[in-house]
Amino acid sequence: MGARADDMTIVMQCNELGKILGLRGPVEERVLTAAVQNPSYAANLILCRETPVFLHQLLAHPPPPRDAIPTGELLRRGADALWRWARAGFTSVEDAVLQRRLDACQACPNLSHPPEGQELLYKLAGTAAGSKSVCRICGCPVARKAAMTFERCPDAHPDIAGLSRWGEPTIQETSHTDQAKGA
Ligand code: SF4
Repeated sequence: MGARADDMTIVMQCNELGKILGLRGPVEERVLTAAVQNPSYAANLILCRETPVFLHQLLAHPPPPRDAIPTGELLRRGADALWRWARAGFTSVEDAVLQRRLDACQACPNLSHPPEGQELLYKLAGTAAGSKSVCRICGCPVARKAAMTFERCPDAHPDIAGLSRWGEPTIQETSHTDQAKGA
């Protein structure tokens, strides 16, 4: 990212998210707001950044805002999210991690078919037709989600406190702004 995330305006953050998604321009502010408020929506945007048909559907229909976020809070949370995504660099996990995550998804009661009426979109996003291939909690195609380094399983492990169903820590990472404050 060119500017420090903390120094960004909303317009700059919209530009930055547009770049992350491979767009020629900024995303709309309502897309940035939805991505900041709704991690599942943000994950879907990133997962589908190389599938233009799916991506444009998501950009055209962001989920409605959950709450009114004051501009300062939106900027702080947007900066954290952009920093996380930039740091992860959209790298893929190692094969062993991918297999462990996929095995967990296959055994998970949250694994489901694509939502009714959206089968074609999910097929375009690379999910196998007619198969259980989507996480019901976040709506992500699990094959793509599991491969991404920055992704997290949204459900708690049924037997082990503090871990997700992928067997990875559920504890939120300290934000970079907190780190900067020495928290
Ligand atoms: S991501 Fe987690 S909650 Fe979703 S299907 Fe996979 S294991 Fe289940």
